[in-house]
Order: sequence, then C-alpha cells, then structure tokens
Amino acid sequence: MKWFRRILVLLVLGLSLNMFVQPNSVKVIGERIRSLMVIPTIFKTEINATIASQTAIKDTSDNTPIETVVNGNRLKRQYNYYFAKNVPIPVKKVFFKAVSKYNQLHIVKLNYEKKALDNQKNQIKFYVYDKPGENDNGTIELGLGGPQIYPLIGGNGFAINHGEAGLNIQYTESIQESVAMHEIGHVLGLDHSYSRSSIMYPIDQGHTNFSPMDLKALHEIYK
Ligand SMILES: [Zn+2]
Repeated sequence: MKWFRRILVLLVLGLSLNMFVQPNSVKVIGERIRSLMVIPTIFKTEINATIASQTAIKDTSDNTPIETVVNGNRLKRQYNYYFAKNVPIPVKKVFFKAVSKYNQLHIVKLNYEKKALDNQKNQIKFYVYDKPGENDNGTIELGLGGPQIYPLIGGNGFAINHGEAGLNIQYTESIQESVAMHEIGHVLGLDHSYSRSSIMYPIDQGHTNFSPMDLKALHEIYK
C-alpha cells in the first residue's frame, strides 16, 4: 500500500499548493477539504489605547515601514471593500470616512461593494469584534488589521491582497476614524511606525491625517 500513501501525499500536497495560490479554489474544493489544508493566516497587528501612562515607544525613526508579507509584491491600486454582516451603522460610517481619506490621496482606489464578488481582485473585509480586558503592557486593544497576500496569481506579475480590518466594539475609543485609518493602513501594507505623527504609531494618537512618511510608504507599495 506504499504507492497509495505516496499518491495521497502528492494529492494533498498538490491541493494545498493550489489552495495557497488560488483563493477561488477555496470555494471550489469545499468545506471538507478546507479543514485539511493550511490556509495562509492573515498577518494581524493591533492598535492600542494606553491606560497606563508608562507605556511609551521610543522614537528612533520617522520611517513608516512596509509589512514584510507585502514587501516585494506588486499590488494593484484598486480594492473592493465590503462589510461583514453584523457591522453596526455608526461603525460603517467611521470606515466610510477613513476610506475617503485614502481615496483623496489618489494613491489607491477603494470601491464599496455589497459583498465580495470577485476573488481575483484585491478586497478588504471590514468587521467588528468584542474583546474585553487589558494587555500585559497596560493597553487595551482597539482594532486589528492586516493584509493577506496571494502571490503571483493576479496576472502580469501582480499579487492579490484579501485583507481584513476590524474594530473592537468593546470600547467606544475604537469607533474612531484614526483607528479605522490605522487598520486600513495595515491592510494596504503599512507596518507600525515609531513616529507619533504617523497614523501607524501603535498607540492611537487620534490622527486623521497622514504623515509625509506614511505617504512615502504608500507610494512605494503602489507605484
Ligand atoms: Zn497596528
């Protein structure tokens, strides 16, 4: 039965590779196979509000870094975005505002759609979650966000990004434009900055304007 096992290994390997590069195949293959596969995990980071004043991040650079998974991939400027089912209207409004801040830059173009229709395009899912409690470093978590990159399937050397951004509705401080902008920043490929003037500073500063270095990094990703 050695040959049988070998074929099975090849089959599973083939399917998992296929799944890794083609988001559409997730749908096609279906529930049962999905549980066997390692689906690329979304790269999530958080933004916090300080509740203990001693939490400080030392300024070492003004630079707004690019998320490692995005670096080196070419991404198209167009994104479709949609909301998860349970997103309350006030939260949607905050996301709409944050999206318009990005669209005003004319670096990326985020288009609203009722639900995800085309897996072969860049898309962003906005959602809410409810997580109480403070972190070890005396902060509370306001949101999560990150890109999910499928390399080499977008055609013409482009990768596809299916990112997600969520706000923690446990805290009213989360339902803010600055927090939504930060999480969208992650989805689009921005990493945490040490600069307090950046929207990517990991502790919310209430910024609703991009720093020059934020713009530089966005230009770098979406040239
Ligand atoms: Zn963050």
